[in-house]
Amino acid sequence: MLLPNSVPVNSLNHPILSQKGIKLAIKRLDLVHTEVSGNKFFKLKYNLEQAKIEGKHSVLTFGGAFSNHIYATAEAAKAESLESIGIIRGEKIEPLNATLAHAEQRGMQLHFIDRKSYREKATADFLNQINEKFGDFYLIPEGGTNELAIKGTQEILDSSDKQFTHICTSIGTGGTFAGIFSSLSAN
Ligand SMILES: *Cc1c(COP(=O)(O)O)cnc(C)c1O
Repeated sequence: MLLPNSVPVNSLNHPILSQKGIKLAIKRLDLVHTEVSGNKFFKLKYNLEQAKIEGKHSVLTFGGAFSNHIYATAEAAKAESLESIGIIRGEKIEPLNATLAHAEQRGMQLHFIDRKSYREKATADFLNQINEKFGDFYLIPEGGTNELAIKGTQEILDSSDKQFTHICTSIGTGGTFAGIFSSLSAN
């Protein structure tokens, strides 16, 4: 998947920071893609590569109605010429919200399931059912975090980030954090 080699790092200025002698900067992963939060692309990179290696034509994943992961998977799959299927928690509410409308517009097939079925989404029974319905697919877990996702998020930091003593990131499933953590430089 196409990812920029380096993402700009912008310094932030505030009187409190200069008073305390703190240098604060933000790595602009939001610039990795115009519409998708950049960490999601790092998480998807090796998963989509693996889907192709396995000869799959579609990827299937799960999420809530406001999932950035659903949105990003639709976008990234399209960019990689893979079909995408999104299993969405809860009833279909129309018109679709911006997240789901965007995913659908990018070609993602949306499939809505009730909350009880959603809780059982990882069971063999449920996966067999959706396999019958959608055919063979590459499965990406809810939130997109697995080993290959972490392999991707290990590429978020680069050598220019060694100047920093602390790295902060938000956490959902922890895939972004895990990759960053395991690729930290000694300092
Ligand atoms: C998905 C997401 C996260 C959480 O990422 P995890 O790898 O699931 O921890 C944090 N911030 C933003 C903006 C996100 O889209």
